Amino acid sequence: MTKKLIVGNWKMNGGLADNASLLAALLAGLHDSPADVAVCASAPYLAQLQALLRGSALDWGAQDCSAHEAGAYTGEVSAAMLRDFACRYVIVGHSERRQYHGESDDLVAQKAQRALAQGITPIVCVGETLADREAGRTEFVVKRQLSAVIHAVGHCASEIVVAYEPVWAIGTGRTASPEQAQAVHAVLRAQLRAASAHSSRNRILYGGSMNADNAAELLAQPDIDGGLIGGASLKAADFLHITACCPRVAAGI
Ligand code: PEP
Repeated sequence: MTKKLIVGNWKMNGGLADNASLLAALLAGLHDSPADVAVCASAPYLAQLQALLRGSALDWGAQDCSAHEAGAYTGEVSAAMLRDFACRYVIVGHSERRQYHGESDDLVAQKAQRALAQGITPIVCVGETLADREAGRTEFVVKRQLSAVIHAVGHCASEIVVAYEPVWAIGTGRTASPEQAQAVHAVLRAQLRAASAHSSRNRILYGGSMNADNAAELLAQPDIDGGLIGGASLKAADFLHITACCPRVAAGI
């Protein structure tokens, strides 16, 4: 069994004071966590995360990066800039970016490539809309989204984290059932296995209204290697509860 990974996606929330108290509460509660844990904040707060979390049990990351290396792209933040703040992770292809900013599969794939080139692990989000699910297109959509990234990153495919986030479950309070989530995770696992001989390194997270009440059952599914948590990551007690739901993996496994 792989050690689970729990990542908080703060989205466009937070502020210097709120972040400091949330991080203090997380650090106080994270001793000897059974999971790897990280939080992803908006770019202006990455320096704060680096200062407060360096050497701690909590990793940090960003919520997006540019598909470009550098240059005349006003407002964009490059993967190299994220590296300056020692980000371990960057979320790419979140459905809110695909939906509100028109990000295509190819653009998301370029972002994943940029992150890997800087030694940052991209957390690649895939997921179907409600209309896709109702039309029986879930598998087709998530495979298409992941396939674009796998092709772009080539032999680095085993270095990505995938987050299955059904769009209809994000921020809606409507969670995929453990069976629905497991079924899609199994499809993604098979796709990653076919792409790389080292796919045992890939972790596939579930995201979409995961909370303190439903986390244990979701995290007990064989192909769910952790969670990408939005709303519940802003409440220290709930986020810590989710991390504590993860089974402990013996060292060396
Ligand atoms: C997310 O934004 O990645 C997410 C899963 O949000 P929520 O947990 O609020 O549904």
